[in-house]
Amino acid sequence: MVYDAIVVGSGPGGGIAAYALCQRGLKVALVEAGRRLVPGKDYGRDLPPLDLLARRLKEGKSGGFDSAWDYREQDHFTPVGDRPAHGLLKALGGRSLCWAGHTLRFGPLDFQKWPIPYDEVAPYYARAERFMGVYGYKDGLSNLPDGEYLAPVPMRAGESLLRRGVTRLKRTGRAMDYIALRKAMTTGKHASGRAICQYCGNCGGCPIDSKYTSANTPIPLAMKTGNLTVFTNAMLTRILMGREANRVAGIEYTNPDGQTEKLECRTLVMACSAVETARILLANRTKEFPQGLANSSGQVGRNLTSHFGLTVLGLFPQLATRNRSDDAGTGYYHSLLTGMYWDKPNPNFEGTYQVQCGSGLPPQRLFYRGEKGFGAGFKQELLRKNICHVGMNMQGSLLVSKNKYIDLDMDRLDRYGIPFPRIHLRYEDSDLAMAQDVVNVSEEIIRAGGGEVMTSPGKVRSEDLVIDSNHWVGTARMGRNPKLSVVNVDSQTHDIPNLFIGDASVFPQYPEKNPTLTNIALSWRMSERLADKMRRKEI
Ligand SMILES: Cc1cc2nc3c(=O)[nH]c(=O)nc-3n(C[C@H](O)[C@H](O)[C@H](O)COP(=O)(O)OP(=O)(O)OC[C@H]3O[C@@H](n4cnc5c(N)ncnc54)[C@H](O)[C@@H]3O)c2cc1C
Ligand code: SF4
Repeated sequence: MVYDAIVVGSGPGGGIAAYALCQRGLKVALVEAGRRLVPGKDYGRDLPPLDLLARRLKEGKSGGFDSAWDYREQDHFTPVGDRPAHGLLKALGGRSLCWAGHTLRFGPLDFQKWPIPYDEVAPYYARAERFMGVYGYKDGLSNLPDGEYLAPVPMRAGESLLRRGVTRLKRTGRAMDYIALRKAMTTGKHASGRAICQYCGNCGGCPIDSKYTSANTPIPLAMKTGNLTVFTNAMLTRILMGREANRVAGIEYTNPDGQTEKLECRTLVMACSAVETARILLANRTKEFPQGLANSSGQVGRNLTSHFGLTVLGLFPQLATRNRSDDAGTGYYHSLLTGMYWDKPNPNFEGTYQVQCGSGLPPQRLFYRGEKGFGAGFKQELLRKNICHVGMNMQGSLLVSKNKYIDLDMDRLDRYGIPFPRIHLRYEDSDLAMAQDVVNVSEEIIRAGGGEVMTSPGKVRSEDLVIDSNHWVGTARMGRNPKLSVVNVDSQTHDIPNLFIGDASVFPQYPEKNPTLTNIALSWRMSERLADKMRRKEI
């Protein structure tokens, strides 16, 4: 059979593409390298805490937190430079199984360097929020637009004191805002029928499927259309070209028995993640595309960016006697510092940042574990500091430069014979200056709120910075000029009209906000455009 579309990768990007294409009546094959993991069995197991810990130690896993992230790939890329990392979870649903669910729209200013404006994506944001089930307050911020939300989850006590600090600084004319977070978890009845959140805090492996994943919402709905065939444990190893040099004809994949099989298609959607999609395109070379498929521009793997950060901890002694049973919730972070440098950029660095904030004693684990000592006094102090603490975690947009990119490590092949990706990362002066600003501002807010700084990097060095291994974007960027970009405004590659990209590789510029909602909105838009083009017989 020739599929109308093959979608490779079943994470947020691929899952929504499979759903949207099936809804349009296309016959779709969803090809996923990993297996199906079952919530409550493979992760998020509901055992008494000590039994769970014993079982995990027996399995060679540390801690009592039973996350889908335990299944992530190891030793699957080559790092170059300043400690890059690469999050990859091969499973049906990809990293949506373990994501934290923070669901933020990019704002109108964030689209200024995109070839499409905010208004073009806004209807897809609204549709995606309704479809996913996202909770939140409407805050009326200029560059973090409100969406369509289920009942909100408030911030915890320590975070309210940070908000007090922000309010005081705002009175002196500072640009900043402080809001409760927005997450893709059902706090009320939702069309998907997913369970209502229990605030158990195990969101890295939600045992009851309250959190949105590709595996629990779009893929089952796509199956119901009768148009979807799912291939799990199926690693794409080669893209097959047709008689015309610029047309994909199908793919080769390795089946669970290790044999090579072929699938034929009219269109191909790559949604393997920003690192893996670039890797596959670079690894597939033909006479016509000697630098890799869809790479006549030489831009595949370039323009790489992610988020990076560090953490400042504060202490509010006045919280010591509060009733901490109120700290149940959706993971650790319940609030967000935002709105710095949207309108007036900081002269010392490019871009801006947000700061995810948490506090108190959320379920599952102690956030602050830096206490030294032993015995009853140690336990008492550890407990006190956790009850009274606030955590401020920077999420800054990493400067795009020629020093940050992906290529192939031709000396290291995976077990399918594909070269591993090599990730090059070098922090630059702008990145360091941004991190220094976060430290200064966070310390200031803690003090303005009536607290004291507990731990802080102080003067920031490159070694203090931690890359977000799960937020890479930009490696096949969108643009109108085929010489400077890989895909057009429909996420269709300039070079190969029946090859589309459904993941965050296509982001042409990256703000401080989390990527997944925009990834889903764009992939949904791409799928509809693909279906329309097929209907009009343009591809
Ligand atoms: C712990 C954690 C917390 C996070 N929290 C947030 C958050 O709060 N908010 C947010 O916006 N984002 C968050 N993220 C990031 C988010 O998970 C990613 O942005 C998102 O999953 C990317 O979607 P994707 O479809 O591009 O890739 P993935 O989710 O990585 O899915 C890609 C899929 O492609 C498959 N694949 C790869 N190569 C091949 C191949 N050759 N053949 C077949 N299949 C292949 C993989 O197995 C995988 O299933 C978090 C991630 C993690 C790990
Ligand atoms: S807090 Fe809610 S979303 Fe998170 S794991 Fe528990 S039930 Fe799932």
